[in-house]
Order: sequence, then C-alpha cells, then structure tokens
Amino acid sequence: MTHAALNQLVFLVGGRGTRLGSLTAENPKPLLTVGGLPFLDYLIDNAARYGFTNILLLAGYLGKEFESRYQAMGRERGLTIDCLIEPEPAGTGGALLHAADRLADKFILCNGDSFFDINLLDLGLIDAGEDWLAKIALRQVEDGSRYGGIARQGERVVAFVERGDSGPALINGGIYLMRRQILDLIGPLPCSLERDVFPQLATQGRLFGRDYKAFFIDIGIPSDFAAAQDLVPAHVLRPAAFLDRDGVLNHDYGYVHRPEDFHWKDGAISAIKALNDAGFLVFVVSNQAGVARGYYDEEQVRLLHRWMSNVLALHGAHIDRYYFCPHHPDGVLPDYAIDCGCRKPQPGMIEQAFREWSIDRRSSLLIGDKPWDIAAAETAGIRGYLWEGDDLSEFVQTTVICQTTVI
Ligand SMILES: [Mg+2]
Repeated sequence: MTHAALNQLVFLVGGRGTRLGSLTAENPKPLLTVGGLPFLDYLIDNAARYGFTNILLLAGYLGKEFESRYQAMGRERGLTIDCLIEPEPAGTGGALLHAADRLADKFILCNGDSFFDINLLDLGLIDAGEDWLAKIALRQVEDGSRYGGIARQGERVVAFVERGDSGPALINGGIYLMRRQILDLIGPLPCSLERDVFPQLATQGRLFGRDYKAFFIDIGIPSDFAAAQDLVPAHVLRPAAFLDRDGVLNHDYGYVHRPEDFHWKDGAISAIKALNDAGFLVFVVSNQAGVARGYYDEEQVRLLHRWMSNVLALHGAHIDRYYFCPHHPDGVLPDYAIDCGCRKPQPGMIEQAFREWSIDRRSSLLIGDKPWDIAAAETAGIRGYLWEGDDLSEFVQTTVICQTTVI
C-alpha cells in the first residue's frame, strides 16, 4: 500500500484548568478522576481501538504526572505513549511547535479535556483538494459561547472565531486532522491555533470541517465535570456488533487466507463504517479450521486481517478486534486438533470479547451466514441475525442500526 498509514494521535494536555478552581491544584485537568479513572484514560483507550499506536502528550502544567502514568501503560498495551513537557506555556500553537520534530506528516490532534466520540477515521474522507492543512470535527451545541465558532460553505470553513455566540451554534469540537506543514504558520509565540492560525487558514481556504452528532463532553467547567462522572462511564459501555467473516464480509470460497483470494461482499465495507459511525464496537468472530487442517498458519490469518484493516482505513472504517478459532477436532496438527470452547457454535470468542472490552450485552448482536453463528449468539445471550443477502450495508442500516439506540 503506497499510502502512509495515519497512526499518530497527539493530545493537548498542557492547560492550567483554572475554571475548575482547586480541583486542578494537584492534578492536571485531563488526569482528574471521572467514573473511577483518569479522564485521559478514556481518550487513550478510544484512540487505541482505531489503531493509533503512536500517542504523543503535549504537557505543561504538572507535566511529570503524565509521564509516570502513561509511559508504563503504553508498554503494557503495545502503544508508544510519549510525553513532551513545555518549559513554559506558549499557547496551543506553541505546544505543537515545541513538538515539531516528533510530528508525523499527518496526525490527529485532540483536546485532552473533552471527549467527542466521532469516528476518528472519518475526517480523512473530507474532500479537500491538495492544499488543505486542517480538517476539524464540528458539533452543534445549545450554547456556542464557550467554544470556537465557524461559518462554512459546503465543508470548507470560511470564517473561524475563537469564541462563538451564545445560543445554538456549530462549534469546533476540538479534534483535528492536520498536516505537519501547519507548523509554518505558527509564530511568534505565544500562539493560539484557535485565535491566530485557524482564522488565517479559513481566509486561505485551507481549513475544512464536517459536523458529527456524536457524544460530546468537555470537563472544563465544574458542572460538566460533575455530569461527566456518570455520563462518560455509561457512554463507553458500548453495544458490540460481532461479524462472521467468510460469507458475511467476503465471498466464502472455502478456506480463504490470502488477500488475492479475498473478495469483499457488496456493502461490507460501508456496513462496517456505518457501525463505526453509530458507536458500535465491531468485532470479527471467525472459525478458521484451516489452521488445524494445516492449510495455513495463524500468522497468515493475522496478515490477512492486517490487510483487511488497511483497506478499511482507506474507507474510514475499522474492526476493533479480530477473534478467530484455529481449532478443529479433526485437525491434522495435534496442537490444534481439539474440541475447544471458541469454535462456533460455542460462544468462546464472544465471551472473550465481553471479558476484554466494555460492552453492553443487551444491545449487542451478531451477523452470520450459518446456523452455528446464530447458535453461538444465542448461547452468549445476544441477538443473532442469519444473513445470506446481497448488500450488507443495506441490511445493517435498515435492520441493525435502527433497532439499536446508541448515544
Ligand atoms: Mg460464514
């Protein structure tokens, strides 16, 4: 694949948090406890599920607190989480410039004190021509006065103000897809992206924005910080969509294990994206008895899944995790010739996901093309849809998403 994968997510965590008064005397705002966990943990968990493995924290106020917590967490989770501490506050633009030699050509920048639960891969789909420097996630709110406000023509932002008007408004949601060349517009310091850089970009026609109806909370003021204690943990208990692979996502020719033999079924990619956009966790649960039979090995299955993820990312879609069962009682390889609990109709893969993720079982579901898929769903206590149709996207839109309330 020629395109460089987007895998860096940068968090702005340097602010003083003065509006929260004594709450931030000993803890920086993104580390305040929300529902029993530091707020930033939720944001990093979320970044990881989209495949962002390179996470950079731009810290300032009490910056050492981030270093000690997240470097260890990164190692445990297979992520690189680095912390850069600014010697003195120089605005959001200054924080970015301080990180200049660490930034990828394209990266996502997020505020560390708000959670806007958009599909993080969708911003890349905004059609912005060649010259764009930033694409912003926007949100409609009841009162725009705490946030940056914008005016648009289509998805091109034509005006950007640091503080919007009171009353209903479309606001800057604090998530940006950026190109590294934006650094050329930063300075002199201190420099605020919202006050000094985005208005210039809007004038130049290099700033774009798309609005999202996703969950949004900003913990910057005491009342919203209090509300977050219940809202955030409830929100991250997500519905899950378990998708069988062969026969649902791809044409089932029997023991498919190479990209060149993998042909997506119509609507499969857009169905996955629709589930991502609607706030579902999306898992593949696939019997791969070909491993036990010696036709291919586990690494080949993983390689195929990585290839699938690369294709999906180009379309703004992702699978949160692939679960597969390599066993079969009649296998020729002794290590795999077992009667296991993960091979469907057993529910082992679904149960493993329930142990590993925060999932709302009542609103979760499985889509499969064989009776054993549905049996696994039933044993796991989730709804199973037997689907042998032609367009998975249409089925997901009309049957699955409209019957499940998310957000
Ligand atoms: Mg199948």
